[in-house]
Amino acid sequence: MPPRELPIYELENAVVGSLRAQGRLIVQAPTGSGKSTQIPQMLFNHGLLAERGEVVVLQPRRLAARMLAKRVAEEVGTRIGDVVGYQIRLESRVSEKTRIRFVTEGILLRQMSFDATLRGVSAIVFDEFHERHLYGDISLARAVQIQQTTRPDLKIVVMSATLDAGALKSYLAPCEVLVSQGRSFPVRVEYLTKTANFEQEPVWDVAARECARVAGQTSSGDFLVFMPGAYEISRTVQAIQGDRALRDFICFPLHGELPPEQQDRAVARYEARKIIVSTNVAETSLTIDGVTVVIDCGLARVARFDPNRGINTLLIEKISVASADQRAGRAGRTAPGVCVRLWTEREHGGRALQELPEVKRLDLSEVVLTLKASGIDDVGAFPWLEKPDAKGLERAEMLLADLGAVSAVSKERDEGTPPTPGRITEVGRRMLRFPVHPRYARMLIEADARGCVRPVALMAALTQGRSFLMRGVPKDVEDAREDTLGEEHESDFFLLMRVWRFADKASYSMDACRRLGIHAQGSRAVGPLFEQFLEIAEKEGLDVSEQRVDGVAVRKCVLAGFSDQLAKRLDAGTLRCELVHKRKGTLARESAIQKATLLVAAEVSEIGGRGGEVNTLLNLVTAIEEPWLKELFPDDYVNATTVSYDESAKRVVARRERRFRDLVIEAKASADE
Ligand code: ADP
Repeated sequence: MPPRELPIYELENAVVGSLRAQGRLIVQAPTGSGKSTQIPQMLFNHGLLAERGEVVVLQPRRLAARMLAKRVAEEVGTRIGDVVGYQIRLESRVSEKTRIRFVTEGILLRQMSFDATLRGVSAIVFDEFHERHLYGDISLARAVQIQQTTRPDLKIVVMSATLDAGALKSYLAPCEVLVSQGRSFPVRVEYLTKTANFEQEPVWDVAARECARVAGQTSSGDFLVFMPGAYEISRTVQAIQGDRALRDFICFPLHGELPPEQQDRAVARYEARKIIVSTNVAETSLTIDGVTVVIDCGLARVARFDPNRGINTLLIEKISVASADQRAGRAGRTAPGVCVRLWTEREHGGRALQELPEVKRLDLSEVVLTLKASGIDDVGAFPWLEKPDAKGLERAEMLLADLGAVSAVSKERDEGTPPTPGRITEVGRRMLRFPVHPRYARMLIEADARGCVRPVALMAALTQGRSFLMRGVPKDVEDAREDTLGEEHESDFFLLMRVWRFADKASYSMDACRRLGIHAQGSRAVGPLFEQFLEIAEKEGLDVSEQRVDGVAVRKCVLAGFSDQLAKRLDAGTLRCELVHKRKGTLARESAIQKATLLVAAEVSEIGGRGGEVNTLLNLVTAIEEPWLKELFPDDYVNATTVSYDESAKRVVARRERRFRDLVIEAKASADE
């Protein structure tokens, strides 16, 4: 379809008029209407950009940022990197001439933290805003702040395929909402009649079978299959290519980790019918023309905060009804279509209607650190679009102080009053360069100083996904002492690493994994992550050379990342512990750490007991030694005899006393007995 005929052009005059009048605008139109490709061009063509000023288009996904830039460059008739460019992490195709720049969310936020006036930026377009990513939310709030203070000429456009615009409209008021209905054809939705068991029949086999069945009933149109990640996609492509009933189709994978040429190949046009197997990048970010059949597995990788582990995870979960509807809609863009859902209609009724916005479900420490890097110390007073819980903010602030990323808060934490905001430290700035949770970023920095970046990067990779250990450590692993990484009985992490190396050596064969008692899929995902972390560490100047592993050095790194979860054994021989701040807990029975007096737990979970009481369970434990506390936290460590309660220094003393109060001193006393 020629671009000028896209439905979004119905709104052209309104878009231009509204932006001239108010400088802010919300555009709501279905996927494929032409929002992402046309609106930036409208701004450019109608002189809404200052001389040499650019429009920055924010995209949640790297793949979409690159592809949209390529498409718009073609439409404008220039080479990519000329008038139209893109910028994603580790890749930049822009020049002096660039006026339309597609970027991923982190890039803009970083630019805002360096230059609070956004010099050279005339307009910002927030695309796919319905996804409500944490960085999108925060960048919008920052953009509004900047527009209100230093840049009244800055234009802000928020776009979305589906959006409950009410709250957003009042947040941005005065601001108009322009709606285009788009054009689409009816899509027939089919469900499975019986619940699928993907443990028994893998999801890729079920999807391939459904493709074959629907292929037998249709004679034209392409297929789009949704899968949660790269691994499931490659298995699905194999299954489809191995199916004789589908031999007339060509099949392509599509996800962000593929090289650009392969991504381009998936969306190109062919004579033959094609099947694209994609992540949710094809849900709304990218329009693929000609699709009339959608096979939806109903799963996606979702970022979430795991309160037990105190970190954000990326796990495979069921998608919401709203997402499923978006996916189904992909089948009706050019002709009537069919969508097959790989779950039952009954199950569908039990699904969440919408995803919670990330600001409500992610740990905020990373984003709080980013805001502080932009000079916003009091994050509670930040104009959030949707304010996170005060508890969540406080927790982030405390953790960052414990990690040494921000200057310590100046009030006692158990007084119940909110802490005074801290400022970012040099360590905090270095931590921001790693795209991992601040706990692991802190550990990596510590590891660089102690010559153990590789094992710590592996530990970070091992803890990202779902725990892959199903049972206790198997006998084979116990027996293979020569493969030992460190002093196993000193950290559960060492054990975890050893089990993973075993699985890796066995190429994650189903057989070996079953024998080892681990999830094949979970452990397979670790390797690529490990490589990725090493690459980034190397790029940031860390020493990633292979070194003899020093168990003590690694354990000190764990202490640096989890010092807020320090615990002391109450009595030798039992599993009872006391954590900092007087919380009681129990060491997990499976833990390899059975003797140590002082330890840190990387997982602290609360489990309801039979009598209704709550028990705190310590998992993934590492033994530490008292002198390390003094070595790593010289300011926070207090020895009861050396504390001077100088009136003028009272506040400082109170802060210093906070971290390991009671615990260490008592531990010392019991060790002396
Ligand atoms: P929206 O943002 O509303 O979902 P887009 O602007 O992304 O819509 O897409 C509008 C139309 O432009 C699509 O229907 C498609 O025909 C075309 N298009 C967009 N991107 C590409 C691409 N990379 N290759 C080919 N066609 C594309």
